[in-house]
Amino acid sequence: MEQIHFKKNDLITITIEDMGSDGEGIGKCQGYPIFVKDAIIGDLVQAKIMKAKKNYAYGKLEKVLKPSSFRVEPKCAFHRQCGGCQIQAMSYEKQLEWKENKIKNNLQRIGGFSKELLDRVMEPIVGMEEPYHYRNKAQYPIGTDKEGKLIAGFYAGRTHSIVANTDCCLGPKENKIILEYILAFMEKYHIPAYHEQSGEGLVRHVLIRTGFATGEIMVCLVINGKCLPKSKEFVEGLRGLTLEKKIVSISISPNTKNTNVIMGDRAETLWGKSYIEDYIGETKFRISPLSFYQVNPVQTEKLYGLALEYAGLTGKETVWDLYCGIGTISLFLAKKAKQVYGVEIVPQAIEDAKQNARINHIENAEFFVGKAEEVLPKKYEEERIYADVIVVDPPRKGCDEACLNTMVRMQPERIVYVSCDSATLARDLKYLGENGYEVVRGRGVDQFGHSGHVECVVLLSKLHTKQNIEVELKTSEI
Ligand code: SAH
Repeated sequence: MEQIHFKKNDLITITIEDMGSDGEGIGKCQGYPIFVKDAIIGDLVQAKIMKAKKNYAYGKLEKVLKPSSFRVEPKCAFHRQCGGCQIQAMSYEKQLEWKENKIKNNLQRIGGFSKELLDRVMEPIVGMEEPYHYRNKAQYPIGTDKEGKLIAGFYAGRTHSIVANTDCCLGPKENKIILEYILAFMEKYHIPAYHEQSGEGLVRHVLIRTGFATGEIMVCLVINGKCLPKSKEFVEGLRGLTLEKKIVSISISPNTKNTNVIMGDRAETLWGKSYIEDYIGETKFRISPLSFYQVNPVQTEKLYGLALEYAGLTGKETVWDLYCGIGTISLFLAKKAKQVYGVEIVPQAIEDAKQNARINHIENAEFFVGKAEEVLPKKYEEERIYADVIVVDPPRKGCDEACLNTMVRMQPERIVYVSCDSATLARDLKYLGENGYEVVRGRGVDQFGHSGHVECVVLLSKLHTKQNIEVELKTSEI
């Protein structure tokens, strides 16, 4: 095949045949793949080459010459600039199909699982009934535009320049009113936005969180300083807004560090409660500005419902919930288990988990602070801890091998793996598959419509093979 040499700014015409893991379109020119952000499967596009590498190139979408039949009118005018939604221009049904295939492809390519097995064990992806306004949390950076006017919005993909937009269609409708009030307040009292390069200015971010089940709203200003001038006026103004839901907590979080981390390390309540409450199923959660909480409560309930179903609890089981956060899964499972143990690296999250157990009158859940890959082996070596079921819900990088290794040595009957990155899921399932566990069920759950992300839950069952029985004998000798 003749080698193609593209140069920057070359214009090419290609048909988009596939999509990459971040939702970017992929077309081929004589076998040479070209990644085109914002192009979707089935589009015929004109793209401008931005960067040409030896085996692939990146192109910028110039013009859609013939739109794909999956192309829809996006709700948001900023969807191309904003880093939040990568695939808003694709119909939601097609998004789901693409996400389902993404999981399967990773399990095949990285995990080494056969297509036959995956076709047998994977259940259809669980989509959203309402793929807009699903997020309960948004963190809006505050800055100024070229004319020096105050703006709130979102970072453009892979940058720190702010796309001004107070009306994100993934969040609750009230956020726009709250943000516009905050900008007007800052304008009125000459309170400057934080400027990343110089480190000057005050207001860095606005965090707005909403309890969908309770209608409670939290507003937290992240500031480059210790206090907010005119805070009394700020609180009064916010409380005076006419909203369908109710603001119950107003706080600031000082963050004077030159860092990408949004929140400071503490929050100070200016008015109201220091938290909001929300429910997932019948379990109540207290959420403070700094605590982690799932952003899509409707889909989370479906995801946890599946995790619970996969765990197969009868009331007699001991369950370990690794990477437990504020105990959301642990408490969901505790009602059906004999005993649940949660492990989480963030101490504040464990405090929240303990409190969440208390407010729900759950007495059979215990929580430990630390890294799963350290706590679990240590407890196993020292106390010979036991599990009938282990649930893991790690961050994107997946589980550490020391954690997987201990899980295998503990020999639970079932492992339920909740994952937000199917590539690391595939890697970890491969390890578990090589060490005595088989994948018996799996299902994608779309938590993040219009983005390239997808959650997935997989059930593994202990294989009662000769090799496994040898491992069991060996471990019982120790
Ligand atoms: N299961 C929870 C949280 C899942 S997010 C829920 O559904 O809400 C993943 C969690 O893993 C985060 O809370 C993060 O702080 C925690 N974490 C990250 N690395 C960890 C590690 N090495 N050991 C234990 N927890 C970890």
